[in-house]
Amino acid sequence: MNTIRNSKTARIVIIGAGPSGIAAATKLIESGFENVLVIEAENRVGGRIYTVDFADNVVDLGAQWCHGEKKNVVYELVKDLNLLETTGTIYDDYVCIRSNREVLSDDVADVLKTIAFETIPERQKGLLKYEGSLGSYLVETYWRELEKTPNIDRTIAHEFLDNMKKFENSVEASDTVFEVSGQGHLDYWICEGELLLNWKDKGFHTLLKLLMKCKGNETNDFGILHKRVILNKKIEHIDWQKGDEAIIKCVDGQLIEADHIICTVSLGVLKENYKKMFTPLLPPAKCRAIEGLKLGTVNKFFMEFKVPFGPPDWTGFMFLWTQEDLDELRNTDYFWLESVFGFFRVSYQPRILGGWIIGPHGRHMETLTVSEVQKAILWLFRKFFTFPIPEPINFMRTQWYSNPNFRGSYTFRSMYTDELRTGAWDLASPLTNGAGKPVLQFAGEATHTHYYSTVHGAVESGWREAERLIAFYQSRPSQL
Ligand SMILES: Cc1cc2nc3c(=O)[nH]c(=O)nc-3n(C[C@H](O)[C@H](O)[C@H](O)COP(=O)(O)OP(=O)(O)OC[C@H]3O[C@@H](n4cnc5c(N)ncnc54)[C@H](O)[C@@H]3O)c2cc1C
Repeated sequence: MNTIRNSKTARIVIIGAGPSGIAAATKLIESGFENVLVIEAENRVGGRIYTVDFADNVVDLGAQWCHGEKKNVVYELVKDLNLLETTGTIYDDYVCIRSNREVLSDDVADVLKTIAFETIPERQKGLLKYEGSLGSYLVETYWRELEKTPNIDRTIAHEFLDNMKKFENSVEASDTVFEVSGQGHLDYWICEGELLLNWKDKGFHTLLKLLMKCKGNETNDFGILHKRVILNKKIEHIDWQKGDEAIIKCVDGQLIEADHIICTVSLGVLKENYKKMFTPLLPPAKCRAIEGLKLGTVNKFFMEFKVPFGPPDWTGFMFLWTQEDLDELRNTDYFWLESVFGFFRVSYQPRILGGWIIGPHGRHMETLTVSEVQKAILWLFRKFFTFPIPEPINFMRTQWYSNPNFRGSYTFRSMYTDELRTGAWDLASPLTNGAGKPVLQFAGEATHTHYYSTVHGAVESGWREAERLIAFYQSRPSQL
């Protein structure tokens, strides 16, 4: 016999305690739902928000900045609380240094940076009529604009372009800019306002505490989700059409019955597991979205030194490889350093440098030990700089791809996504039973049509699925 549920009795299981899962759970609790359980495979909440103690305060191993202000729900939530601060020009004023140790003059670097990066509004317009990849668009426009400045050395321009492509890959989380869809790139909406708002000395975890309405600072304080979050529990299988309910099987063998499941696992986890994770198999449109949307790897390094690193006026530095040095590097064990594109100062952490690596080389780096990685990075610094390089006091790197609970960093729209004519809407659509009840819902950054790859997109997606359930139970008042 079917049990008729209402908002107090409906059993809702949310898989994943990242920002989307926490946003969904807290909205449901605040809307009067009582039977809400969040199941998380890791030993912590936050997912790809991961703030850890380091050096003078904290660093963010995952999401670091609130990207923009207008229509950004994260910004809206905290704008009056004095928690965010602009990162300034750290990511504009960096130094460009060549592998032959030549530092580009400000004049040359400024021209190249302007051509490469300060054309975003025009880029958005130009892409409207462009059929190809973001990469081919960027390369074409770069050389076209450069035609107007014949005094710039073409060899240096080439080296800069290579570095710019790596930077762009870090924005997209793509392996190559030539796989990013030019049209798909336009699906992403930039929120107006400051694009790099940092969380001062507190980190992005602050947002989770606000969502959960935590009062204290203890790591096991889940606020209004008290006793509703289970950590270290991994979901292995979901039977989403078991009569009128769904049965969830955990890796430890426990079975959990649910009326509704909100699945927030990353696109990387879905890609790896969707064929065996769901019974019945997901519908073709959902499978196409999982196959067609892409997520890649962006990893970070954090280095703590005794005193601030390098010349005081450097906000960061980007590595430009000469062809000769690159050919040589590619024949060594350090080949992967090619994709370490730059290091920058970290806000509120004067003694730290934060570096970036992208793509397949980033995945290779994850397979090495921390000390191997640290040694290689110091070799890189010594190759590029003329001044003595001190040993760091502490070194950390991320491994977003090798962790089976993530399998990558964030999502983008590829040429293949376009080819399959799929998108976030297919991933987001809920699976219902015959009576129209949402049984298996999907949230998470990858399901957001316009704010994918961000925390604000993840939070909105969690709210979207919570609201779907709120609306469902509001539309059935006679059964309450
Ligand atoms: C290096 C890096 C830098 C970033 N920088 C920024 C930034 O500056 N600004 C920004 O807005 N965004 C940034 N992002 C993106 C942002 O972190 C993500 O978009 C967002 O956190 C995704 O949230 P989510 O809830 O969709 O997924 P997640 O945070 O991945 O949450 C999903 C949760 O599901 C859990 N899980 C997975 N499988 C299972 C299972 N089988 N059973 C139970 N639990 C499971 C995972 O452990 C995880 O906790 C960055 C990400 C990375 C990796």
